[in-house]
Amino acid sequence: MATYNVTILCGACKCPAQTVANPKPHDKVTCPRCNRSDRFDNVHRTVGEHVQYETARALNESMARATRGSRFVKFKPKHLPQRSFRWIAG
Ligand SMILES: [Zn+2]
Repeated sequence: MATYNVTILCGACKCPAQTVANPKPHDKVTCPRCNRSDRFDNVHRTVGEHVQYETARALNESMARATRGSRFVKFKPKHLPQRSFRWIAG
C-alpha cells in the first residue's frame, strides 16, 4: 500500500486524527474531537482522493494564472465539483 507523507486530519473539524504507528488496514483511525472513526484502509483511500482533488484544483488554478491574458493559449479549467471528504491530508 502506498503511503502519503502527510498528516491525516478529520474532514469535519480539521483535527489531527489518532492512530497507531504504522497502521495496518484494519486499524482504527479516530478523531479525538468528534470521535469520528474509520478503518485505516478507508481513511487511506479517502485521503488519497483528497490529495488528488487538491492537486487537480491547484493545477487548474496555476494553468488559469499562467494562460491569463494570453491570446494564444486558451485554458478551459476542468470542472471540479465541490467535494467534502471525511478525512483529509494535512
Ligand atoms: Zn473530527
